[in-house]
Amino acid sequence: VREGIAAIAGAGAEHCCVPLQGSGTFVVEAMLQTLIPRDGRLLVLVNGAYGRRILEIMRRIGRPAVPLECGEDEAVSPDAVRAALAADPAITDVALVHCETTSGILNPLAEIAAAVAASGRRLLVDAMSSFGAIAIDLRRLPSVTALAASSNKCLEGVPGIGFAVVARGAIERSAGNAVSLSLDLHAQWRGFEKNGQWRFTPPTQILAALDKALDLHAAGGGVAGRLARYAENCRTLVEGMRRLGFETLLRDDLQAPIIVTFRMPRHPAFRFADFYARLHARGFVIYPGKLTRQETFRIGCIGAIDAAVLRGAVDAVAATLRELGIAPGELYRG
Ligand SMILES: *Cc1c(COP(=O)(O)O)cnc(C)c1O
Repeated sequence: VREGIAAIAGAGAEHCCVPLQGSGTFVVEAMLQTLIPRDGRLLVLVNGAYGRRILEIMRRIGRPAVPLECGEDEAVSPDAVRAALAADPAITDVALVHCETTSGILNPLAEIAAAVAASGRRLLVDAMSSFGAIAIDLRRLPSVTALAASSNKCLEGVPGIGFAVVARGAIERSAGNAVSLSLDLHAQWRGFEKNGQWRFTPPTQILAALDKALDLHAAGGGVAGRLARYAENCRTLVEGMRRLGFETLLRDDLQAPIIVTFRMPRHPAFRFADFYARLHARGFVIYPGKLTRQETFRIGCIGAIDAAVLRGAVDAVAATLRELGIAPGELYRG
């Protein structure tokens, strides 16, 4: 499983995969506290809630972090990263959320990695919602010290394992950085290298499911196959919802085919909790709340689903609007 994950990351012999029990946030927390030196200083690129979560983790572990924020409907700008790094020589590391699941925006990983490389800093990537569907080639991204992802998003396994793909040199030099015992990625890595065992109770069934999920990922055409299916899901969803009068938060060229954010209708008959419950009754569970600062709701397009399922979801939305007596074109009339 470790080798399968490393291969999906485009990792060579100079990288390794370190799995960790828990959800995605556990491994992000482990990655940050293990790989950022105790006297390090982190620049956090923020355009959503997961970037803000990285700042909160840094606050809890007591290591300095400075945000570089942009709008939630704007991609992080590599020029802004270059300027921030030039202005603050004390920064040692940079953290980026690849696909910011708050809005579904895709941040330009390769360009930002190049900006970080040019200034001699290191990049840590939260690739939770992109890993397995959007190509990442670590051999071509030398500034990336590590990326973190989990079993249950684009890999379509069951939840319960996170993992980091880490540059060997960085993990070798990271002893003593972590302030937590169970989230010490260096100790976790040492454990696997020593005897192939998990340090603490292994999540056995989840690992077996992840092994199977990796087989299915390969059988479905790997990263390219998954991207093609999700892109068709996303297109089907966006086109269908636009036909019903919904507006997306993001421009199409910024949208990753992972999750789509729609502006919240202003029609008085549209109440989100009610809309959610009516879709649920029709067999479609969407995200129950918003993460963006603007009024929005989100529908995911990943998982073991295809365009026929998304067409069914759009039909369920259409039927719900008819039930509520909202005509297309009226959604955003207050
Ligand atoms: C899902 C996700 C996480 C981790 O969330 P968990 O609920 O802890 O699994 C972290 N970052 C991003 C960008 C995510 O999409």
